Amino acid sequence: MPFIYTLLALLLVVILVVIVRTFLFSRDARQDPLPFSSELPDLQPDLLVPARHLSAAIQIPTISHADPAEDRPELFDALHNLLQESYPLLHGRLSREVLPGGSLLYTWPGSKPELEPVLFMAHQDVVPADEHTLAKWTYPPFSGAIEDGFVWGRGSMDIKCQLIAVMEAVENLLAQGFQPCRTIILAFSHDEEVLGMGARVIVTQLKEQGIRLAAVIDEGTSILDGVLPGFKGYTAPIAVTEKGYLSLKLTAEASGGHSSTPAPETSIGILSRAIDRLQSNPFPYRVQAVLPLFKALSPTASTVMKMAFANLWLFSGLVRRQLSASTETAASIHTTTAPTIFHSGIKDNVLPSLAEAVVNFRILPGETVAEVIDRVRTVITDERVTLTPLPNNAWEPSPVSPSDGPAFHHITSVVRELYPTATCAPNAMLGATDSRHYHAISDRVYRFTPIVSRKEDIERIHGINERLSLENLSLMVKFFHRLIQRWSCGQM
Ligand SMILES: [Zn+2]
Repeated sequence: MPFIYTLLALLLVVILVVIVRTFLFSRDARQDPLPFSSELPDLQPDLLVPARHLSAAIQIPTISHADPAEDRPELFDALHNLLQESYPLLHGRLSREVLPGGSLLYTWPGSKPELEPVLFMAHQDVVPADEHTLAKWTYPPFSGAIEDGFVWGRGSMDIKCQLIAVMEAVENLLAQGFQPCRTIILAFSHDEEVLGMGARVIVTQLKEQGIRLAAVIDEGTSILDGVLPGFKGYTAPIAVTEKGYLSLKLTAEASGGHSSTPAPETSIGILSRAIDRLQSNPFPYRVQAVLPLFKALSPTASTVMKMAFANLWLFSGLVRRQLSASTETAASIHTTTAPTIFHSGIKDNVLPSLAEAVVNFRILPGETVAEVIDRVRTVITDERVTLTPLPNNAWEPSPVSPSDGPAFHHITSVVRELYPTATCAPNAMLGATDSRHYHAISDRVYRFTPIVSRKEDIERIHGINERLSLENLSLMVKFFHRLIQRWSCGQM
């Protein structure tokens, strides 16, 4: 009998702890706006003006290539000319520098040169449209069609929209007579899509000039409509870090020879087993990685979800199972393993002496390139398989920028002004962006693209029928019109 009482008492304590922790979990998650009074009237941009500018930019297919020799510099020149024609005030007032390859760097001097500048980024290049999918596009990928309330084409979402929105905002601010306090820098690289050198060259140059930046914003996560299940309203994750990157070449050698007398193990067999071991032993899932995201979103979360995240000491297994069930959420809680290249063999009756594969890893913040290589070696446990990182193709996860300071809260304040039902939260970017280079000259690097996206919209990026609604583009211009003022003249 007393045993049952003890058990009941224990159960009661557990339930109480769960309830109290659930209650306390969202207590600190209130998102009060950071005060800022602008002297300018709110911007009411014409829907069509930025749309026409974006459309014209899309019609110039500034595709970047892994081999820069394949790039067409005349297209980047054409885009630069278009920007000059479209934004005369900007080009009259800001100094402009064209860097080798075609990256653009603009400087708008502030009235307080003693303050660190702020920097707004985007990239000019786009990915090609897959030739096999051309028939499936409603409007051709480089048509820039303005139809059905959308601007259609490559770059409309990734990321000529951000380039145009930033320029549109600056042009409007100049027309309104705005004078920045901190210097404003605009940086638009030309080869982000091929993990190129453009952003690195810009950062090197700024560093050599002794410039440190108060804050940086680049393309990134967007405002999600129904993408994350279990939350009410829009959710606006703002990426404060991004995953690291490593591509490892795996090589297996074995004796070749005639296929009529094969050895028990061939190079293909050895390498296949190594890849299989890697895929069967995924990197550990770390639910804690998304705790800041879920904590900030908790005021709009379902009770069950709130209870689970507030009590990871009890429910971490359950949460891990839930998150690891889908590829997107799984990628946010562990280092991913993706075999992307596999080569071997030349003829059907010849045993290949060599098999090669490349496996791409996206490294969770908190882990390192060296740890990933060590673990891969341990998991494979086969000395016949050699590991070689692809040259110039590995980097650590980015440092985490603060989500409790003014730079971050200016972003969340503008989001809430323009999208009152949105809840903002810090998170990690799963893909790689140019912004990773900027940690060398700033402690506050954010990745955010202020457009509302549904799941089907996200699939259009690098896919078929990429498009952006005129309304989204207009709100994007308003976002940068407000953020530029806040970051330049507000408390930082
Ligand atoms: Zn992009």
